[in-house]
Amino acid sequence: MDLASRVSQITPSLTLSIDSKAKALRAEGIEIFSFGAGEPDFDTPDHIKAAAIESLKEGFTKYTPSSGIPELRSAISEKFKRDNNLDYKPSEIIVSNGAKQSCFNAILAVCGEGDEVIIPAPYWLSYPEMVRLAGAEPVIVETTQENGWKMTAQQFEEAMSPRTKMVIINSPGNPTGAVYTKEELRAIVEVAADEEITILSDEIYESLVYDGAEHVSVASLTPEARDLTITVNGFSKAYAMTGWRIGYLGAPEKIAKAIDSLQSHSTSGPNSFAQKGALAALTGSQQCVTDMREEFNIRREYIYERLSAIPKVTAVKPLGAFYILANISKLGLSSTNFADRLLSKANVAVVPGIAFGDDRVVRLSYATGLDVIKPGLDRFEDFCKTL
Ligand code: PMP
Repeated sequence: MDLASRVSQITPSLTLSIDSKAKALRAEGIEIFSFGAGEPDFDTPDHIKAAAIESLKEGFTKYTPSSGIPELRSAISEKFKRDNNLDYKPSEIIVSNGAKQSCFNAILAVCGEGDEVIIPAPYWLSYPEMVRLAGAEPVIVETTQENGWKMTAQQFEEAMSPRTKMVIINSPGNPTGAVYTKEELRAIVEVAADEEITILSDEIYESLVYDGAEHVSVASLTPEARDLTITVNGFSKAYAMTGWRIGYLGAPEKIAKAIDSLQSHSTSGPNSFAQKGALAALTGSQQCVTDMREEFNIRREYIYERLSAIPKVTAVKPLGAFYILANISKLGLSSTNFADRLLSKANVAVVPGIAFGDDRVVRLSYATGLDVIKPGLDRFEDFCKTL
């Protein structure tokens, strides 16, 4: 059976291949120090679980509206006002099976054959694949370590063509940990507004910012920005709810309606009782978010200090998310070779930067305890010194 060209072009996830090697070594009884995690190591807070359990007991087990339950969409509308200075009516909000589906819906609704989508690299590895699946073409803009792995408005402008339909901004960023300032975002919005380019703003790591960095929602900058932007967010990272699969987007009504139709014919509404958990996450105490952020911050400080002290390895101190990029380009190995050898020789798992469109770096996640981070970095350091 021949595959559709749509799927035969997709590259398998490199993150998963390192992961399966790590698992194979573990199965042999070898201890692996993994910096590969893309999800918080904390459990979902109890009050969120309790709300989902309660709703199950009450028989909340049927289909929900495809765009999500009204009370959750209202709570998200409130959240956007409270935290992001954003006015989205509940009818402009679509709840999905994770922020991943929200991103994919947004791209499918706006981009198609002949369109180009600008993506700053290093990028979250699903963006280019989603763009290709929509029949459009990713245009990758390489950022620099000197600029904190952020795309400048000038780079954005230079990458534009008459076919540019969308630009993807992910702040705080995976895998960079970069947080764009208000001024940087303003400059990007100005360029986008001149050509009416849609901005997909993936704000899933919003709650994880450090050192006084401020998360700014692109759509809050100007009325024009609001008209051009699709704002994506979700519960996976802030509330340690990756397995619940609940994310959402806010968009001008016309786009939200189109996405609602799209979702109604593909996956229907998200899981009923997971939505009740998500509602409790938004309406309950936010102390759990603060507590997790504080723990991430301790690890971030530690990991940055350690990496910076390794000869020939450099890093930008991340201001957000739970990742750090180690620049290993002076050690003479490609990122894949480096990651492969680090795993087989030192039993440390990292993700090669080539997966994110940059072969100079490897990604270390600090969504894992200091009991793994400390010995893992001892090994990482010793390995680098052998190169
Ligand atoms: N965007 C980015 C940048 C991410 O890193 C992730 C999760 N790895 C997602 C979106 C998807 O999150 P969710 O679990 O809500 O689908």
